[in-house]
Amino acid sequence: MATKRDYYEILGVDKNVSSEDLKKAYRKMAIKYHPDKNPDDPTAEEKFKEAAEAYDVLNDPNKKARYDQFGHAGMGGAAGGYGAGGPSMEDIFSQFGDVFGDDSPFGSFFRGAQGGGGGRQRVRRGSDLRIKLKLNLQEVANGVEKKIKVKRHVTCNTCGGNGSKNGTAVQTCSTCQGTGQTRKVVNTMLGQMVSTSTCPTCNGEGKIVTDRCDACFGEGRVLQEDVIPIKIPAGVAEGIQLSVGSKGNVPPRGGVAGDLLIVIEEEEDADLKRDGNNVVFDLYVSFVDAAIGTSVEVPTIDGKARITLEPGTQSGKMLRLKGKGIKELNGYGRGDEIVHVNVWTPKVLSMEEKSILEQLRHSPNFQPKPNKNEKGFFDKMKDFFHG
Ligand SMILES: [Zn+2]
Ligand SMILES: [Zn+2]
Repeated sequence: MATKRDYYEILGVDKNVSSEDLKKAYRKMAIKYHPDKNPDDPTAEEKFKEAAEAYDVLNDPNKKARYDQFGHAGMGGAAGGYGAGGPSMEDIFSQFGDVFGDDSPFGSFFRGAQGGGGGRQRVRRGSDLRIKLKLNLQEVANGVEKKIKVKRHVTCNTCGGNGSKNGTAVQTCSTCQGTGQTRKVVNTMLGQMVSTSTCPTCNGEGKIVTDRCDACFGEGRVLQEDVIPIKIPAGVAEGIQLSVGSKGNVPPRGGVAGDLLIVIEEEEDADLKRDGNNVVFDLYVSFVDAAIGTSVEVPTIDGKARITLEPGTQSGKMLRLKGKGIKELNGYGRGDEIVHVNVWTPKVLSMEEKSILEQLRHSPNFQPKPNKNEKGFFDKMKDFFHG
């Protein structure tokens, strides 16, 4: 990768440039190097992107401050910088409404170019469908296959999607000659430019339905309940969004369907709490079981498991059940279950119980003798939860 040029140098401005002058400088460069204006210059796109990147950084007070202090080194990684490829053309075009104003001839000039230049019609895409999906801990841990019922717009079978009666041919829009866009030549101080906008007669569709299909009322699509099978991978978490391609809505009168987006919601488990890929269970044992030792059943994600408590188990001890946690998302590992032992101190005692314990009150083995070398609560927590 070539060394990056200084952002101020690229736009020909100095550090104290006003936001208005910065915008002007960028506008100038963007127009000069726009790829559609320079079809024979292979470096134009590079320069066009370079200018967009420089503007993006210098126009953002946070990024600018970081750049002023650290130079290009401050812009790397997730900090908001760009990788070797720079911003994508799409990123750049999405800025133009901002820089040029939506109504200016420049704005539509650039947006027109985004579709591949000139009046070529883009394939229309329907809207995405978003649904929430509740999963219990076991489904989250192991992954699950679900059949999801959704109401979505699908292509009308009667007309084949074009919206006309029995699928007969539709008329080409005479205003735009079927391109969906109207073009006009605009004189600007930089010379003539072609401005394109969506055709008002056909709303950009390029066609006009005169005799409507009865099944879809000319929409070319109908609402239908679909059952869509989906595979949820193990290890998903609250808020994660999965997408099933082309299972959203088709647009009116032809085009490709949007996606079905599934937003995961985690149902809380009655016993097991999730911590990353581990699950934690709070086990309560009697003081007698802790002192003499015992074997107890604990719940796990996949049913019960039996564990042994050694004689002399202290309250707060954590036992690890290896591999009884949640599978790593897109990985091979699996978390653990951690059993946190709580020794139960009786809250109510009968006279008899009280008198038995009274006899043990001063017994030597009942006096606390914590091992000074043993790790305290804080270190144990760190070990168990963070490796
Ligand atoms: Zn129809
Ligand atoms: Zn039209």
